[in-house]
Amino acid sequence: MKAIHINETGDLNRLVYGEVPSPRPAPGEVVINVRAAALNHLDIRVRRGRPGVPIQAPHVLGSDASGTISELGPSVTGLHIGDEVILNPGVSCGHCEFCLRGEQSECPAFGIVGMSRPGTFAEQVSVPAVNVHPKPAHLNFEEAAALPLAYVTAWRLIMTRGGLKAGETALIHGIGGGVAIAALQLAKLAGATAIVTSSSDHKLARARALGADHGVNYRKVGDIATEIKKLTDGRGV
Ligand SMILES: [Zn+2]
Repeated sequence: MKAIHINETGDLNRLVYGEVPSPRPAPGEVVINVRAAALNHLDIRVRRGRPGVPIQAPHVLGSDASGTISELGPSVTGLHIGDEVILNPGVSCGHCEFCLRGEQSECPAFGIVGMSRPGTFAEQVSVPAVNVHPKPAHLNFEEAAALPLAYVTAWRLIMTRGGLKAGETALIHGIGGGVAIAALQLAKLAGATAIVTSSSDHKLARARALGADHGVNYRKVGDIATEIKKLTDGRGV
């Protein structure tokens, strides 16, 4: 199959578009025919290489994907060939103390598709069946592929760790990237007030269109903390 992969880490010129072996599903895994994949900053970090973390060449990049199931591995139940799915790229053991209390990203065996195992910038990818979810019907494949990594990161940040509740105020410092925009949308859906910052008035305007209650250009205000205190009547965020 065709895939964007690297044989060694480094600059952009290390990227190869070419043939790699097609995946075979291990027990409990399914193969997805990838219809759309999204680029994350993580892909750039993996391509550049991380100290002490060797890659296994050819390493296929990419964490996010949507597509259709093309093959079921042994002992997979509840999924069918042709199902339209999105992928949760965080892979964990499922039975350690962290996994059992819903802290999968703390699992000693935690890995991410495209980082610790072959990625999604390929015609096919094999992933654990527990990591695939139905593609929302109101999203096309491109829109669905843009969701997972940014939204699970933002969810863990502001919901799991931050415990954000309706009526509270969230500050999203540096709006514009995928995780920040996901955090803004989740904060608004949670019923919180959202304050965003940027050095770009254009990004602040886009954030307001997405529901941000206040936008602060940190290049134009003296002290950001003072400004936030002012916006929250001294309560802070
Ligand atoms: Zn675990």
